[in-house]
Amino acid sequence: MADWNSLYEELENLKKEGRYRPLTVWDSGSDTWMTLNGRRVLQMSSNNYLGLTGHPGLKEAAIAAIREYGAGSGSVRTITGTLRIHDELERELAAFKGTEAALVFQSGFTANQGVLASILGPDDVVISDELNHASIIDGIRLTKSDRKIYAHKDMDQLEAILKQSGGYKKRVIVTDGVFSMDGDIAPLPAIVELAEAYDAFVYVDDAHASGVLGTNGKGTTDHFGLNGRVHIQIGTLSKAVGVVGGYVACEQVLKNYLIHKARPFLFSTSQTPAVAASCLAAVRVLRQSGELIAKLWDNAAYFRAGVQALGFDTGASETPIIPVIIGNPAKTMRFSDLLLEEGVFAQGIVYPTVAMDKGRVRFIVTAGHTRADLDFALNALERASRKLGE
Ligand SMILES: *Cc1c(COP(=O)(O)O)cnc(C)c1O
Repeated sequence: MADWNSLYEELENLKKEGRYRPLTVWDSGSDTWMTLNGRRVLQMSSNNYLGLTGHPGLKEAAIAAIREYGAGSGSVRTITGTLRIHDELERELAAFKGTEAALVFQSGFTANQGVLASILGPDDVVISDELNHASIIDGIRLTKSDRKIYAHKDMDQLEAILKQSGGYKKRVIVTDGVFSMDGDIAPLPAIVELAEAYDAFVYVDDAHASGVLGTNGKGTTDHFGLNGRVHIQIGTLSKAVGVVGGYVACEQVLKNYLIHKARPFLFSTSQTPAVAASCLAAVRVLRQSGELIAKLWDNAAYFRAGVQALGFDTGASETPIIPVIIGNPAKTMRFSDLLLEEGVFAQGIVYPTVAMDKGRVRFIVTAGHTRADLDFALNALERASRKLGE
């Protein structure tokens, strides 16, 4: 008889290694302070960089869209699922990014899958940073193109690969804008220079950079003054934008192509009206003012300096993603648990997501944190560290 024994075994192994994690169920919505098992906990693991999940304007926009259009969109985009609100969102995103066009997907994950699988064929090669996000890796797996991986941010190796790959029709260099585990930024100026020297396309996934880096949160391309020199910019609407969804900002010709080829776009229902409307409201908030982003960076600098002053290793962090590197996986997870006892939620991230000796508790600072919140977290770090040493 069929049974799930092999699954039980694998789960038992995870438990033995201290890597088995039941879901954390929160009693309140995404916010700076949240309720967990009846206790107030300082949230330092959410991607809600600007606190937009609870923004009154976004909530009102969602409610108004439900009243006007209903709860669902009724179909995929290519049949009856493109409502006025979806079209408006894409126009706003293109204006925000300063590109000819933008195309929205259900998530950043499906945006990567849809775009990579559509543009890469058997005569092409994709050249990818070793630390790129899982959705890029999966998107590449869907293609028949050749694939080359370069060591993290290693521009010499990228150039060597470009030199050896003259015979391909298309060459596409793919990188995260901000790397989610270390909080470091891709060397985009060097990547763009190499791409221009070797006639390659540049593809940047700005999931952790849109709404965070660049003027008004336009992203990594703008941050480095490379507007017009990056061919494909992926963004998510799920992190700093505070809702859910993904998009590609690109030339009109690529958008037209994707409308006919990208499978998540063709075969999965479009965003609900409430989602599209609240994303639209969020992008308008970003375009109106850089105030929240300035606060975010101020908080990040303050917290990183505080963590370093306590003697912790924050690795390569240069953004609001601030890892506290502990090392051993079990010790890392224990440290995260101790922090929770002190009232701070910061996720432990261990092998195989990161190297065996590079387990870390990852803090994400947001614009919603006050100085008092950050000091609370720093005190918790100090106390938890003392307990970990005992
Ligand atoms: C989070 C993330 C995604 C996925 O975005 P979702 O909108 O959550 O699906 C894609 N790429 C990178 C680099 C990410 O960090």
